[in-house]
Amino acid sequence: MALIVMKFGGSSVSNAEKIKHVAKRIVEKEKKGNKVVVVVSAPGDMTDDLISLAEGVTERPDEREMDMLLATGEQASIALLSMAIKHLGWNSISLTGPQAGIYADTTYTKARITKIVPTKVHKELNSGKIVIVAGFQGLNPNRDITTLGRGGSDLTAVALAAALKADSCEIYTDVDGVYTTDPRIVPNARKIEYISYDEMLEMAGSGAQVMQARSIEVAKKFGVQIHVRSTFSNNQGTIIKGDEKLKSWRKKMEDVVVSSVTYDKNQVKFTMLGVPDRPGIAAVMFGALAKGGINVDMIIQSAPRAKYNDISFTVTKSDLKKANEILKKVKAKLNAEAVVYDDNIAKVSIVGVGMRSHAGVASKMFNVLANAKINIDMISTSEIKISCAVKQDQVSRAVAQLHKAFKLHK
Ligand code: ASP
Ligand code: MG
Repeated sequence: MALIVMKFGGSSVSNAEKIKHVAKRIVEKEKKGNKVVVVVSAPGDMTDDLISLAEGVTERPDEREMDMLLATGEQASIALLSMAIKHLGWNSISLTGPQAGIYADTTYTKARITKIVPTKVHKELNSGKIVIVAGFQGLNPNRDITTLGRGGSDLTAVALAAALKADSCEIYTDVDGVYTTDPRIVPNARKIEYISYDEMLEMAGSGAQVMQARSIEVAKKFGVQIHVRSTFSNNQGTIIKGDEKLKSWRKKMEDVVVSSVTYDKNQVKFTMLGVPDRPGIAAVMFGALAKGGINVDMIIQSAPRAKYNDISFTVTKSDLKKANEILKKVKAKLNAEAVVYDDNIAKVSIVGVGMRSHAGVASKMFNVLANAKINIDMISTSEIKISCAVKQDQVSRAVAQLHKAFKLHK
């Protein structure tokens, strides 16, 4: 008897019809003799709507209360889904994250899972129930419910699959799998059959919306193989697994240098102008941001002129207000000239493990952008990714040109 974790995203449970459809898919799995644990997100845009509501009440909602609010979205889904399953004549039970034994730290709104004690999940499974767990939430040491960062239901699913030693982890969504790029921008984008954790991690971190980046980190750490597939078809989707396991498949593909092009319009560039050029400045600045729980992405520091630097970096748009407040304090402390930000930027990235062994990938990317008359504002690289910040209205063109130049449609 296999134990399967199935996760359904918000668009799969956005109305009663869809919830009934999802219930049927779950029951099909159960009928085949599997034990099934389901993780589900809040219906449709409910999380966004709740955030807007909170921001209508106060400019800077208290983060503990924000978590209290946002956790309700997933609770609506689990209850409705369990009702739909019972309606089909099967036994099920809905559990909140805390009830399922998911423990998290005290970083409200972006908490990390600290441990999972799935005693109740096992107990309910053993009594023959389908267990429906609320994604995106856990219990912190203050006994508060806390959320796991946007897209956190993926993390719940993968972490539960690891804790339960599940035989498979299936992520059901409104697309067929992971694509070489966004098909809305490039109609001949291809579905990727297999992809490594490392590539998926870079893709998620550079704007691909399919899976939350942190969930891939956990999958890699615990070797959880993931199948990303459509809620609305039975087609094979994309398998995410370790690079080792992909070797023989890659050999067939020979020179796949770049496997995808991603973009992210959700970025803001901050620049701290006129910071004194002395040791420890960057540590103070980025230390303050880290303490505020803000992730920094691309960073550049200009060559010093007359003992002053400009330091630019990007953060996600949702951190704009918080970052701005922190940076104003840092500016005063460092005696810098000014803090400015620009939200008319976007990041375009190419990702592929083949970059490790091929030279000239970066220069090809820069050439493609140059030929398209697209100016590069910032650059950052990792072993398997190159990202460029460009003007927001040029990013679609950049994606299309890069997809074509690296022959990803083939
Ligand atoms: N509902 C949460 C969000 O919209 C979590 C999730 O969907 O995974 O971010
Ligand atoms: Mg999602």
